[in-house]
Amino acid sequence: MGDNVIPLADLRHAALLPTIPRDAPAPSGLLADRHGRPLRDLRISVTDRCNFRCTYCMPKEVFDRDYRFLPQPELLSFEEITRLARVFVAHGVRKLRLTGGEPLLRKNIEVLVQMLAGLRDAQGEPLDLTLTTNASLLARKAEALARAGLRRVTVSLDALDDAVFRRMNDVDFPVADVLAGIDAAVAAGLGPVKINMVVQRGTNDHEIVPMARHFRERHGGRVVLRFIEFMDVGTTNGWRMDEVLPSAEVVRRLDEAFGLQALEPSQPGETAARWAYRDGLGEVGVISSVTQPFCGDCNRARLSTEGRLFLCLFATQGHDLRALLRGGHDDQQLAAAIGHIWSGRDDRYSELRHAQSPEAAGTGRRIEMHYIGG
Ligand code: SAM
Ligand code: SF4
Ligand code: SF4
Repeated sequence: MGDNVIPLADLRHAALLPTIPRDAPAPSGLLADRHGRPLRDLRISVTDRCNFRCTYCMPKEVFDRDYRFLPQPELLSFEEITRLARVFVAHGVRKLRLTGGEPLLRKNIEVLVQMLAGLRDAQGEPLDLTLTTNASLLARKAEALARAGLRRVTVSLDALDDAVFRRMNDVDFPVADVLAGIDAAVAAGLGPVKINMVVQRGTNDHEIVPMARHFRERHGGRVVLRFIEFMDVGTTNGWRMDEVLPSAEVVRRLDEAFGLQALEPSQPGETAARWAYRDGLGEVGVISSVTQPFCGDCNRARLSTEGRLFLCLFATQGHDLRALLRGGHDDQQLAAAIGHIWSGRDDRYSELRHAQSPEAAGTGRRIEMHYIGG
C-alpha cells in the first residue's frame, strides 16, 4: 500500500487510500490481523475540538487561536459514522466508544448516540455503546444521552484539588462542575461510571490517594477509578519518561492506604488491570501502557474525525475511509477494504517501545491524541 500515500504538508492529513480487494468474502466477524488479533472495539472521534487545554494533550502554546481545526464539511456526518459502524460491527466489533476532542461539543451528539444504539451484532444484541468525556457538559447532557441509548460513560478527571485540576485543564475549569457531571451520570444510570486519571509524576501523583478515597466513599461500587500512565502520544506534550509514575507504584500506594487484592480480567483485550479494595468498597484499575504494554491482545481500531482509520494509538498514518464513503462505494466494498486493512495490521507500538526505546519504536510524526481520540 506504500504507493498510495498521499503526501500532504500537514501530517494530520496524511492518508493511505484503501485498496478494495475484488471477490472478498462477506464479513463473518472472524477477522484477524497478522498477530491473530480480532477486531472488537471501535473508537470514534466525533470532533477534534476541545474546551480544555490539558497540558499533556492539547498544550495551549500549540493549540492556540491560530490553530486550524477541521472545518465542518471535513467531518464525517452522523449518517457516514453510522454506516461505517454497521460495517465494522459485521466484522466483529462489539464495542463503540465516542471520543474526541471533547465529544459533547459535537452538536446534537445524542442524535448520533440514538442512531448507533439502533445497531445490532450478529446475535441480534445491542452493542456496548459508551463515551469518554471531560464531563464539563455532562451535568446538562447525561439524562438525554441515557435516553438516547448510551450505556456507560468514562469521565477524565486528573485531580480533586481544585487548584491542581484548574492548572492541568489550563482553562481554569472548576473541579466541582466535573463532580456534578459524574453525579448526573450515576443518577442517569450511565454506570458503572469509569473515571480516568492520567498520572504525571510531580504534577498530580499526590492526588492518587485522595481521588481513591473520594470515589470509594462517595460512590462505593458504582464508580470505578482507573489510573493511566502518562503516555508518549503525539509530539506536542513534552513527554518525558521521568514524568511517568509506573502503575506498580500506584498500586503500592493504594495498597498501603486501603489494602488491595488482584482481580481476574473480565474480558480479553481489557486495557486495565483490576484490583479490588479488600474491604469490599469497589475496585480500581491501572492502565500501564508504558511499563507493561498490552499489545498482545489489542483489538481496538480508531476512526478519526474526518474518517481516517488508525490501527494503533501511535500510528503515523490513517486509511482514508471517507474517500470510499464519498466516492460512491457500496457497503460490500467498504467491508472488503476494512477487512483487507485489518488483515494486514502489524502494529504493536508499546511492546516495541518497551523492548527498545521510544525513539526506536517509531520514527514518523505521531498523531495527536485529541485528533485520534483516546
Ligand atoms: N476529551 C475527552 C476526555 O478528556 O475524556 C475525550 C478525549 S481524550 C483525548 C481521551 C483520554 O485520553 C482522556 O482520558 C485523556 O486523559 C487521555 N489522554 C490524553 N493525552 C494523554 C497522554 N499523553 N497520556 C495518557 N492519557 C492521555
Ligand atoms: Fe480535551 Fe480530553 Fe485532551 Fe483534555 S484530554 S485536552 S479534555 S481532548
Ligand atoms: Fe494497541 Fe497500539 Fe496501544 Fe499496542 S500500542 S495496545 S497496538 S493501540
